[in-house]
Amino acid sequence: MREVIIIGSGPAGFTAAIYAARAELSPQLFASQVSMGGELMNTTEVENFPGFPEGIQGPDLMQKMQEQAERFGTEVVYDDITEVDFSGEIKRVTDTTGTVHEARSIIFATGSAYRKLGVEGEERLSGHGVSWCATCDGFFFRDKTIAVVGGGDSAMEEATFLTRFAKKVYVIHRRDSLKASKIMQQRAFDNEKIEFIWNSEVTGIHGDASADRLSLRNTVDGSVSELPIEGLFVAVGNDPRTHLVHGKLDLTEDGTIAVEGRTSLTSVPGVFAAGDVIDPSYRQAVTAAASGTVAALDAERYLASVEDALASAAVAG
Ligand code: NAP
Repeated sequence: MREVIIIGSGPAGFTAAIYAARAELSPQLFASQVSMGGELMNTTEVENFPGFPEGIQGPDLMQKMQEQAERFGTEVVYDDITEVDFSGEIKRVTDTTGTVHEARSIIFATGSAYRKLGVEGEERLSGHGVSWCATCDGFFFRDKTIAVVGGGDSAMEEATFLTRFAKKVYVIHRRDSLKASKIMQQRAFDNEKIEFIWNSEVTGIHGDASADRLSLRNTVDGSVSELPIEGLFVAVGNDPRTHLVHGKLDLTEDGTIAVEGRTSLTSVPGVFAAGDVIDPSYRQAVTAAASGTVAALDAERYLASVEDALASAAVAG
């Protein structure tokens, strides 16, 4: 049985692993079969992670975090956890092969998943002109006219990145001002290939084999229009990935896992949560990493207290 199992391989998971491994807790980290490394794997240049004044590519940063975690003895498993059982003192998690793994504590750092628009055509044309990841799919849109939906940092980053390939990039936003940071906004405003379509929401995505036009609705006057496009990138935020723990851990109104104050303590003793899955507001690589640190320290303290309790019980017995 493990002292600690970490679920998730973004900055929160790997930082928790670095701390837990250095505390000689021999963590096992489940890194997922397909989305190892979390959201930074879909990012290009990371300019705001301290220690990299020239910036660093997202996948390179994750590779370094993994190497650092492994250096101190973390076992990385490339598999997904499909089920968790937190009901007893020993926690159990099941992987895709049906193997059950046991640990005294769990750090849950599953991050977040791309949010969908929930409009007609989105599911059907997903992978056929509709994408959530510019760095994964941008290459396929060379010399095409595409649209990005959203007004946050992700949308600005995707739009700016896509101008490397695309002929033209529309940014469709439901308001008349952006949520993105000033530097990301300015970069997009300065880019001649980007044209903003303000106060508009996408109400439908159309096309037979591939997306070829969008239905738009003006959010101010309600008027509707169509926009011919050859591709659509959806960048409207993320939702915390909590499906494994519904009914097992308390959640907040935002849908994140509820933790006590500034700690990583969830509603179940011995289960800790870190990163985007507990964070409705900041959601930066560096805040996720810090959150992973908190979880590892909390787990370490919890394990020491369990150890003390067992020792006292043995003496009393
Ligand atoms: P976000 O900040 O939550 O922004 C989501 C945007 O999508 C908002 O503008 C929102 O509109 C819009 N939106 C949400 N649901 C929508 C819907 N159903 N239809 C149309 N528009 C919708 O998400 P994000 O941009 O993914 O960023 C998430 C976090 O990651 C942020 O903290 C961000 O700073 C960070 N991030 C940082 C970087 C970087 O620093 N390089 C890059 C990417 C992301 P409203 O404005 O109307 O709410």
